[in-house]
Amino acid sequence: MLGEGIIQGLVETARNFFGSYVEKDRLTTVQYPEERHTLPEASRNFPFLLYDGTDPEAGLRCVACQICEKECPPRCIHIEKSKDKKPDFVGKQQAYPVVFDIDVAVCMSCQICVEVCPFDAIRMDKEFELSTSNRFGGLLWTKKELAKPNEYYRKIHPVEAAETDERREQELAAAQAKAAAAEAARAAQTSASATPGEASGNGASAPPAKTVVPQ
Ligand code: SF4
Ligand code: SF4
Repeated sequence: MLGEGIIQGLVETARNFFGSYVEKDRLTTVQYPEERHTLPEASRNFPFLLYDGTDPEAGLRCVACQICEKECPPRCIHIEKSKDKKPDFVGKQQAYPVVFDIDVAVCMSCQICVEVCPFDAIRMDKEFELSTSNRFGGLLWTKKELAKPNEYYRKIHPVEAAETDERREQELAAAQAKAAAAEAARAAQTSASATPGEASGNGASAPPAKTVVPQ
């Protein structure tokens, strides 16, 4: 029937309007900013950088591989890589970003930077109250403004953060097991090479027996 959809929409609006006086769930609006809706887990706005522990510099997960910079469609990420290195969460020496800027005036919240990051170093934030009177510098976020602790990530995306934490724990356990196996192999090799010396009692290899040539 012509206009059926419009009628259904009006009926639903009327049900919500009158029903909201008796049923709180029918109240579809809130008195913002005093009241706020709880945002769903999947909501996203602009990216932020994750760090572990309490030090945003030492714990920053980003290794400045620049994959996100290359893949970002509007090219709003700018990274300058360090010349020196620092240990990552498994103890491996990695570079870090000396400069990591995102121009959020250009960012289109596509999340591609998050998808391509192999180090779980960048995630999408839910923060949306970002208006500023500084049109240029105010929307260019530096590493300092972008860095947020893992606890923050757990708070805004609990399910996703739990999966990431679990995977990183497995990676850490695998790295520790590999290091322990390498250490055990090294110790076994050292002990095997020391065994002939032990037989001679002075820690050195025994000299070969002298050959007596008959006259
Ligand atoms: S969300 Fe998209 S546009 Fe924004 S920084 Fe990441 S890749 Fe670039
Ligand atoms: S955020 Fe991820 S992809 Fe981007 S430079 Fe850092 S480690 Fe590489």
